[in-house]
Amino acid sequence: MTDPPRLPSVDRVARAVAHVGLPHPVLVRVTRQVITALRSTGKIVGEAEVVGMVRTRVEHLARGALKTVINATGVVIHTNLGRAPLGDEAVAAIVRAAGEYTTLEYDLETGERGRRGALVEELLATLCEADSATIVNNCAAALLLILRNLIGEKRKQVVISRGELVQIGGGFRVPEILEASGALLREVGTTNQTALTDYANAINEHTALVLHVHRSNFWMEGFVGSPSLADIAALCREKGVVLVDDLGSGLMRKSLPGAEMEPGPADVLRAGADLVCFSGDKLFGGPQAGIIAGKAHLVASMKKEPLFRALRCDKLMLAGVEATALSYLQTHVPTPVMEMLAVTVEALRTRAAAIVAAVGTDRVTVVESQAQVGGGSLPQVRVPSASLEVRGPDPQALAKRLRLASPPVLGYIANDKLRLDLRTVFPRQDAALAEALRKALA
Ligand SMILES: *Cc1c(COP(=O)(O)O)cnc(C)c1O
Repeated sequence: MTDPPRLPSVDRVARAVAHVGLPHPVLVRVTRQVITALRSTGKIVGEAEVVGMVRTRVEHLARGALKTVINATGVVIHTNLGRAPLGDEAVAAIVRAAGEYTTLEYDLETGERGRRGALVEELLATLCEADSATIVNNCAAALLLILRNLIGEKRKQVVISRGELVQIGGGFRVPEILEASGALLREVGTTNQTALTDYANAINEHTALVLHVHRSNFWMEGFVGSPSLADIAALCREKGVVLVDDLGSGLMRKSLPGAEMEPGPADVLRAGADLVCFSGDKLFGGPQAGIIAGKAHLVASMKKEPLFRALRCDKLMLAGVEATALSYLQTHVPTPVMEMLAVTVEALRTRAAAIVAAVGTDRVTVVESQAQVGGGSLPQVRVPSASLEVRGPDPQALAKRLRLASPPVLGYIANDKLRLDLRTVFPRQDAALAEALRKALA
């Protein structure tokens, strides 16, 4: 009688997939998981098969490493690609803060403990034309902190229009954040129509605040109506309740075509909101952070919450936001997001033509295209752009070859052709893009 086939040794399998380049203990861990799973199913497989299964898993893991890519999708604030790329100054500030000791909470004059984020808070308050401002990890955290701080034992209700109970990107649903904060949802109006009287009828002694959520990632057309923020603010003042505006994105420059009507944080506060919150990246163009601006006593009260400590941002984020705020207030160097949105189509066409020449095949042509702001900002705005369009039999296969290039190049497919939109490609990446395309077409 022969022995039944045994599962191979963990170490042998781990060594067989060493070429993937992950640390040995990780390979051992994955191998153990695979072998344990096989054992529990009682399936008998040979070593080659186990190695194959482990390889599939570790290759998948290796692809999960944070890698830089060339974004030729034409989506400027691309959620899956890390939203806003930072400006040179912000990057330099983060690198400096990362590798050195800093005055994070230290006062050089007195030699004693200083106030964390003191300057960045002033810069943000200045930009938002607010009494006061502060900063936490992201805008979802900012909203959570605001809600937790404003709801009390007897005042738990948050009044919000049904047209604003929205989902913003993956994992951010306004009703769920409200629930997580312990607030009770008091919905008013309907999806498409909410009147000022709906708000007025809902506000009572149990109302903690009125929440206005900016429809940042969609727009509604047709039989749609809601009161202006100024009217809601006047009502809230009359009733003595706080008005909070979750703006999501912090547009600082109205020069963007199509964004003339988009409110910025200062507009929202001027209209009468007591607090506004928005992301530090998106249109603001810095690191992801949650910026809160508005009435001084409200901001001060939030900073006393134990939750504030849990949500506060670290020195790297503070350094990046400080540099980004200074770029608006002092150096006037546009953020990469604003710069990408402002480049003329002619400039993009010129670059595209140079890339076509460098690739040297008649399969690639320059076409007009439409870029998007993305990141749940200005969904109705289409930005005229220029793309490379590649003719050929299998655009999906070509797209994959480009994704697997080094650096990876990400485009999109339109009318069964691969397109690479230059609006979201940094000019410094043009040569690498041309090279990747030339190889992929060879
Ligand atoms: C994007 C967005 C958020 C969430 O911001 P994060 O920085 O991703 O947490 C919240 N509210 C609105 C209206 C948004 O657009």
